[in-house]
Amino acid sequence: MLLIKNAQVLDPYTRLDGRRDILIGDDGVIRAVERELSAEGAAVYDAAGRTVAPGLIDTHVHFRDPGQTQKEDVRTGMRAAAAGGFTTVVCMANTLPTCDNEETLRYVQAQAHAAGDFVNVRQACAITRGLKGQELTDFAALLAAGAPGFTDDGVNLTDASLCLRAMEEAVRQDTLLSFHEEDKSLVFSPGVNAGSAAARQLGLPGAHPSSEEAMVARDIALALRTGARVVFQHISSGRTIDLIRAGKALGARIYCEVTPHHLSLTEDAVLTHGTYARMNPPLRTEADREALIAGLIDGTVDLIATDHAPHTAEEKARPFDKAPSGITGLETAFSVCNTFLVQTGRLSKLALLEKMSKNPAEIYGFAGKAIVPGNRAELAVLDWDCEKVYKTYYSKGINTPYTGMPLTGAPVCTIMGDRVVIPGDEF
Ligand SMILES: [Zn+2]
Repeated sequence: MLLIKNAQVLDPYTRLDGRRDILIGDDGVIRAVERELSAEGAAVYDAAGRTVAPGLIDTHVHFRDPGQTQKEDVRTGMRAAAAGGFTTVVCMANTLPTCDNEETLRYVQAQAHAAGDFVNVRQACAITRGLKGQELTDFAALLAAGAPGFTDDGVNLTDASLCLRAMEEAVRQDTLLSFHEEDKSLVFSPGVNAGSAAARQLGLPGAHPSSEEAMVARDIALALRTGARVVFQHISSGRTIDLIRAGKALGARIYCEVTPHHLSLTEDAVLTHGTYARMNPPLRTEADREALIAGLIDGTVDLIATDHAPHTAEEKARPFDKAPSGITGLETAFSVCNTFLVQTGRLSKLALLEKMSKNPAEIYGFAGKAIVPGNRAELAVLDWDCEKVYKTYYSKGINTPYTGMPLTGAPVCTIMGDRVVIPGDEF
């Protein structure tokens, strides 16, 4: 048994914001949530001064396993997730080989189990075989094997008729699709905003915001026609937010994801951070960043997801146009969002927990995450007020512009069942 004492429970499901003790049984199930509890023989975790919330859920991570474990593997990805306060992650399918088959899906599930299941690792499967955009995968078989949804993340689904068929199949199978939206013909060069000072300095044409806006507009039309449930991943442009807002008003069953970096940085970060600010879609203007935050506030943006994308230091040391796109995000996400959204008064603590825990759970169908008796304990222990400067990471990837940046607040640990998962200790 585990007894959590003196926790400030903040639960976006029940909207409870109050001092409570939480008793968790040996089976990992919450027994009681009361103002004062004692239990003979229970291990005690004193959470005084800390918030206890439902564990954070990141629906967009790359653990690079199988195939690129020099960048990350399932175990190091899980360590990074737990250190970041996450209890559930959804891995993207652009592994080597592509996760478009049951064998690769089961391999990832087995790796997470072998590592001790201290984070729920849910492996998404590809929409098309080999991410080639030509032939649909076997949705029914992959769902039966445990896929939480389907995505060709990293690659735009260019063929509209194939996209239509994917949506029709998703409706038949009652599953979710998530889309990386960048029309290649409008990405003149990846990783930097077209027309930005950084693009000019690098002598690169950049990625035009229309590459995202045009694809999202097309796919809203297809989603309206088919009734498919579609997540638009890592949205970067303010005009895309306007399109998604309009699509939702028309009744499309669409959801929108943004990253902590698109909410906190602009295209100018490329001038100071170089390849550590190179990602697809790129960082855009301050007006875009403001529009993303407005979308968070009015509910157009449902999810904050990190797009955790580790690469080796050698790869990121290449010239800008030769380096891979993407930055890590799991460990810094809470601190960045707290610093730029909560501490600035743009979002309440409860609203941030909706975007980082409750909405991802509900959209992906991960049930039973409220802090109430009968649910399994999957909790994040959070400090909203400490000063935090990130220097080292549990991820293999160090490719992040937030290293050395003064931030406010940090995750303390997670609780999985009756286990306290302390970074660097209980892994
Ligand atoms: Zn992507």
